[in-house]
Amino acid sequence: MTSHDLTAPTRRVRTRFAPSPTGFLHIGAFRTALFSFLLARRFGGDFILRIEDTDQARLVTNSLADIIGSLLALGIGYDEGPDKASVAALDAEKYGVVDPALLPDHGGDYGPYFQSQRLPRYRELLDQLLEEGKAYYAFETKEDLDRMRKAADIRKEPFRYNGKYRNYPLGEARDRVAGGESAVIRFKMPTDGPIRTVDALRGETVWDARTQDDFVILKGDGFPPYHFSSMVDDHDMAISHILRSEEWISSTPKHVCLFDAFGWEPPIFVHTPNVLGNDRKKLSKRTGAPPVKGTIYKPNGEPVIGLLDQGYLEDAVFNYLSITGWSPGDDTEVMTREEITRRFNLEGISASPALFDRDKLTWLNGVYLRHLSPAALVERALPYLIAAKLLPADPTPSERTYAASVIVLEQERLKTLDEIPGLTDFFFYPLPEYADKSVAKWLKKVGVAEYLTDVAVALGEVENWDAETVETATRGAGEKHGREKGDLTHPVRVAVTGREVGPSLFDAMGAMGSERVLARLAHAVEIARG
Ligand code: GLU
Repeated sequence: MTSHDLTAPTRRVRTRFAPSPTGFLHIGAFRTALFSFLLARRFGGDFILRIEDTDQARLVTNSLADIIGSLLALGIGYDEGPDKASVAALDAEKYGVVDPALLPDHGGDYGPYFQSQRLPRYRELLDQLLEEGKAYYAFETKEDLDRMRKAADIRKEPFRYNGKYRNYPLGEARDRVAGGESAVIRFKMPTDGPIRTVDALRGETVWDARTQDDFVILKGDGFPPYHFSSMVDDHDMAISHILRSEEWISSTPKHVCLFDAFGWEPPIFVHTPNVLGNDRKKLSKRTGAPPVKGTIYKPNGEPVIGLLDQGYLEDAVFNYLSITGWSPGDDTEVMTREEITRRFNLEGISASPALFDRDKLTWLNGVYLRHLSPAALVERALPYLIAAKLLPADPTPSERTYAASVIVLEQERLKTLDEIPGLTDFFFYPLPEYADKSVAKWLKKVGVAEYLTDVAVALGEVENWDAETVETATRGAGEKHGREKGDLTHPVRVAVTGREVGPSLFDAMGAMGSERVLARLAHAVEIARG
């Protein structure tokens, strides 16, 4: 590794996640937040949530609540960030509402953590750059710039601002602005020579200053753009490592020049690999829509919180996304949060894109589901049965007990919690529904009505109803009819569950209780005879 090896960081590790509230928190952005969080935790440092809301035109109502809610739901708490007062000060029409119960009383010592609440600080630094001749007002209108862009297009050159106002006297520029003329402030980039940037994962890159232009650091609307506000905040908030998406790599020369202009030491840049969907496209909030259940899975744009609704456990999502683009250096995949935190390091982050592999997440989720205590599994599964209307919204204690005995039967097979209704619905119907195919194959055969009748008789005599006594009684009836193996169990399974496959038959019958089982057998006998 380079000098940015983090085995022994030289300053307090302070990382940040700096989303713009311009959409829901999608899986790719969440993964970057997770890495940032893990790095801070690994070194006992601080994880900061900063809201980059200087692009007021792109604000999306309620995205703030989604960002904070998603991070917290997945166990990524911030040490510093939005607090009750700073959120209350926002325009609720534009930002939506965040449940104050989620927010700390005191955001931290480096606040405010909303960029829109830091404008005086930006102004102070903009003035400093103007005074020092490192930045200048520029008076091109949008139309002027469009014309310049078109001309560059015609010449087949990338657009670069021509620096027309670079040497315009500051006093005159200020007078024009005071007179009401609209202007932006641009930063003076070096006009030639190399610009060196270092990325902890990729090493050094040397950029030719002639490919760079004087970028805007204050827009006409009075807000600084990302390049300025984000770097100022990273400095002011004493950020040690900027973990951000690799789309920012090409902006890094701008950022190091800004740090240089202020005489500040830049943080370590870590551009995290993109997370690609199974169509190899980058996960981003601007592409695609959340998937509709039952359609072909397209993760692009999928909100991370949606994974919880689909029945993935928080710990499984945390675990899976931590190994999406990072590896602990061996084949270990199933790790507790504690183990991940202990082992996380920058060296294990890959510089190439990572694939969001839904099947692997699903597999991992199954592992986590099997590790849950039966009581915890029941607690997590009940809402899915209620949502599927298999249980009433407020189940009685006996409905709960019955549902619990059914849910635990599926613990071994279950991969996502939302499979629960589909796997267990027949337990809750008054009578099972029989598919014509199963009726023809298992119920309408010679001798089946008599066999099921005898099973019912034998079961009717069972005293201590449980899986074991039920099995003994059923097998006894089966043997009387000379039935073995599948011939013995299949007709009973179809009669009682309406299905040809499912959880262990006798466990299922044990859970159902004698009344349900006998009613179902009687119903099946009628059909077998009818
Ligand atoms: N506000 C930027 C975004 O939403 C953050 C990039 C960064 O982490 O520096 O993309």
